[in-house]
Amino acid sequence: MTARLLEGGPLAAQIREGIAADVAAFVRNEGRPPGLRVVIVGRDAPSMVYLERILRGCAKVGIDADFVELEDEATEATVTATIRALNDDPTVDGVIVQMPLPPAIRLRAVVDAIHPAKDIDGIHPLNAGLLRLGYEGFQPATAHAAIEILRRSGIEMAGRDAVVVGRSPVVGMPAAFMLVREDATVTVCHSKTRDLAAHTRRADIVVVAAGRPGLITGSMLKPGAVVVDVGINLVDGRIVGDVDFDSAVQVASAITPVPGGVGPLTNALLLSHLVRAAQRQADDQPVSSRGV
Ligand code: NAP
Repeated sequence: MTARLLEGGPLAAQIREGIAADVAAFVRNEGRPPGLRVVIVGRDAPSMVYLERILRGCAKVGIDADFVELEDEATEATVTATIRALNDDPTVDGVIVQMPLPPAIRLRAVVDAIHPAKDIDGIHPLNAGLLRLGYEGFQPATAHAAIEILRRSGIEMAGRDAVVVGRSPVVGMPAAFMLVREDATVTVCHSKTRDLAAHTRRADIVVVAAGRPGLITGSMLKPGAVVVDVGINLVDGRIVGDVDFDSAVQVASAITPVPGGVGPLTNALLLSHLVRAAQRQADDQPVSSRGV
């Protein structure tokens, strides 16, 4: 093995220590812990595993977290009304809606219903716009984790050529905007990209968020490249990323493992976003679902 492993666990532990201290200070000042509610529509297995991980992480640092469960058959109106009730609850500082939603419910209707001040996973268009314009909003936690793992591992981004594979609104595009903010020169590749390898072979930093196991192999990398694998795929009962780790680790200078790379950092950053949301709402005016 040649590449340095960029592990998310130790970085997440550092972040959680800071969160626990911030939560304790918040409780002293406000007389209550920061509150998170996760809205889940229908009980599909991957969502529940993810959800339980979030709730456990919250319990460890003293955040009051719970989920609001709606039946598979819930209408769009019921889901959006549930979110609006959470927007109006002063003890709830952050709202996450577990994806994927049942097909009858429009993602856009749900996203629009979340108050931007409580949108700690940065999916509301206002937060997406703030990121695009370089203002402080809430960033999608996974994309934030992909960039934060580079920053906290001391990887230089300024001036370097970066390729992001994937252009989804929740991972690929926000990661690309964040890399631009870090002064990298960024190319975004997607399923219509001609000759993906020609792009990745030029890159000093490759961030892969495609949901395709083994998409990026060692032969598609420039020697010494830094690889961030955001993918989470279940293959033969094992969790694997989008990068063929065994070949990539021979060529890269640093690489995130899957599991154990971006994932742990994502959860820790989500909680740090929650604490920031709680502090902002305590400092600012009360939040109402009718205005930003
Ligand atoms: P998504 O919405 O399905 O987007 C996938 C993106 O990859 C699309 O832009 C797609 O291109 C592109 N793509 C697909 N096949 C490709 C190919 N052969 N070559 C180049 N680009 C290709 O997925 P997502 O929500 O962004 O998630 C991406 C991955 O991250 C998934 O594995 C997901 O499980 C994982 N994830 C990880 C975390 C974490 O905490 N680590 C959190 C969330 C998601 P088009 O736009 O052209 O379709």
